[in-house]
Amino acid sequence: MIGAIAGDIIGSRFEGHAAPPEGFELFHRDCRFTDDTVCTVAVADAIMCQGDFAATLRAYVRRHPDAGYGGMFLRWALTDEAPAYGSWGNGAPMRVAAVGWLAADAAETDALAAAQAEVSHNHEDAVKAAQSVARAILALRQGATAAEVREWIGDTWGYDLRPEVALRGGGFDVSAAGTVPPALAAAFESTDWEDAVRTAVCLGGDTDTLACIAGAVAEAIHGVPAEIVMCARGHLTDDLRNVLGQFERVRVRTH
Ligand SMILES: [Mg+2]
Repeated sequence: MIGAIAGDIIGSRFEGHAAPPEGFELFHRDCRFTDDTVCTVAVADAIMCQGDFAATLRAYVRRHPDAGYGGMFLRWALTDEAPAYGSWGNGAPMRVAAVGWLAADAAETDALAAAQAEVSHNHEDAVKAAQSVARAILALRQGATAAEVREWIGDTWGYDLRPEVALRGGGFDVSAAGTVPPALAAAFESTDWEDAVRTAVCLGGDTDTLACIAGAVAEAIHGVPAEIVMCARGHLTDDLRNVLGQFERVRVRTH
């Protein structure tokens, strides 16, 4: 999960700007955690405490109201009992990383990925995208290679993950179906964690979310270097850091 958080923080300062040059500074003073991190930690918390996904997400958003949420999601989060609003946006896959680490098997991964998505993002594309990211993390965690997972995800989900297609970049795409293939391809093609996140950020567009998802999956392939973990943790508030610590302890205990 720290891979998702670090990716979000690194990508945060480029969101909506032109793609940066390849050698950009990873942790710049303008970096901050955004909605991707808040919602990722909320989903982890809900799973670990067997809490309700909607109620937990709402509590986190209200504690961190200025993290850069989309307008529809913010309205949903600030309105008790608001129903899911049919979103096909990338909010569902961007917050799913913990599912891939905490679920026991494929069936539980699919169920949790769908459940956390459907409280707000109940469009089929968003649910499927969240499941693909969580299942990729699960498969990698269980020892499959990046090449095996790339082929299997491509066949099963119908995503074109060939780098010459998925890594073309192109505009500001906040759809789940448009965000997940490039983010996955950045991870699958990477030589190390940093390489995955640099590739994702250099695609431009919704850079924090691309880097969040790429960083989440790349963590399951390569791990995250200790100095990057340290820098990312340093950007968090105490409440988020505490849940991250709890997540790391649960993960070690259960696997
Ligand atoms: Mg964001």
